[in-house]
Amino acid sequence: MNRILVTGGAGFLGSHLCDRLLAAGHDVLCVDNFFTGTKKNVAHLLGRPDFELMRHDVTFPLYVEVDHIFNLACPASPVHYQHDPVQTTKTSVHGAINMLGLAKRLRARILQASTSEVYGDPEMHPQREEYWGRVNPIGFRSCYDEGKRCAETLFFDYHRQHDLDIKVVRIFNTYGPRMHPNDGRVVSNFIVQALRGEDITLYGDGRQTRSFCYVDDLVEAMLRMMDTRRGFTGPVNIGNPVEFTMIELAELVLRLVGGASRIVHRPLPADDPRQRQPDIALAREELGWQPRVALEDGLKETIAYFRRLFAEGHAA
Ligand code: NAD
Ligand code: UDP
Ligand code: UDP
Repeated sequence: MNRILVTGGAGFLGSHLCDRLLAAGHDVLCVDNFFTGTKKNVAHLLGRPDFELMRHDVTFPLYVEVDHIFNLACPASPVHYQHDPVQTTKTSVHGAINMLGLAKRLRARILQASTSEVYGDPEMHPQREEYWGRVNPIGFRSCYDEGKRCAETLFFDYHRQHDLDIKVVRIFNTYGPRMHPNDGRVVSNFIVQALRGEDITLYGDGRQTRSFCYVDDLVEAMLRMMDTRRGFTGPVNIGNPVEFTMIELAELVLRLVGGASRIVHRPLPADDPRQRQPDIALAREELGWQPRVALEDGLKETIAYFRRLFAEGHAA
């Protein structure tokens, strides 16, 4: 049993991670400033003696005693991270410095939730960990992409300079229950639009691709990464390598939800990557991991979650 800090623990991925850590018998300290996360995501855990929820912004120092740190704090969807871009960069950079300082004082193992966005709009397909990426340093997505890149730099410099036990995972598009209904992400947008009978908004020609990983698969990979041997730092890609065009996704969601929504085209956002697919050979080899949940099955769970949310009157 370990005491484990999860920053961003009231968010989409963080709350599922808290569930799994508690189920495995660990003590969990969930730290979140509730910018995009919500108490509702961890409401079922409140009151448990092995779970503590703390409102805190990771851009400020944090003095607690833990054995492992999962650093997930950071808004993840373009609408949220572009809302206050300076705060987004601060969260990635100052947040990493503070969590690394904490890990250094405690000699604690620390895992960074990095992102496929470090590859930018890639010329290499699928993306392998050795690829350095093609990122615009001054665009609308840069606060997120460059913030996460700098966080990786800090993790590796703390590792080299202070012998810190670091783990870095690069997460590709992930979906599932507890996604935000209004975060503008393609999976939540399409499901919410289909459930409301609104038009499905396909950006650009809809032939751009993404690979979608179900949250349970993703959390399993993060847990396995935290348990790898000391000295294995990553970065490791985690995501689902099965690639879909946005048109295919729209049609699948429409088929699963039913209803009368039409597909309409909207302009493609700036710097929108054309293609994204993880090469997960390293994760297969080092973590013995590969995704298990097919898109159709994961979408059914996610659709059921949004139906419940709307039936309860939330975010309608
Ligand atoms: P999310 O927005 O649901 O969760 C992020 C959490 O961090 C929220 O609870 C938010 O309130 C909290 N937070 C934000 N700024 C904070 C701050 N300054 N101090 C403390 N807490 C703060 O997003 P998510 O999808 O769960 O993403 C979790 C992590 O995984 C993020 O670091 C994100 O960059 C990374 N990631 C996610 C995806 C994905 O597809 N969901 C893909 C790549 C990387
Ligand atoms: N820090 C923290 N909690 C700790 C230890 C450090 O939040 O338990 C913060 C501290 O505020 C500092 C940052 O982590 O700004 C980096 O710490 P480090 O020891 O690497 O740097 P220094 O304190 O020497 O600047
Ligand atoms: N997208 C879309 N309609 C929407 C929302 C997104 O066609 O309502 C497209 C978007 O342009 C992008 C893809 O879906 O090509 C994935 O977008 P998302 O914001 O979910 O993730 P990211 O671009 O960060 O991978």
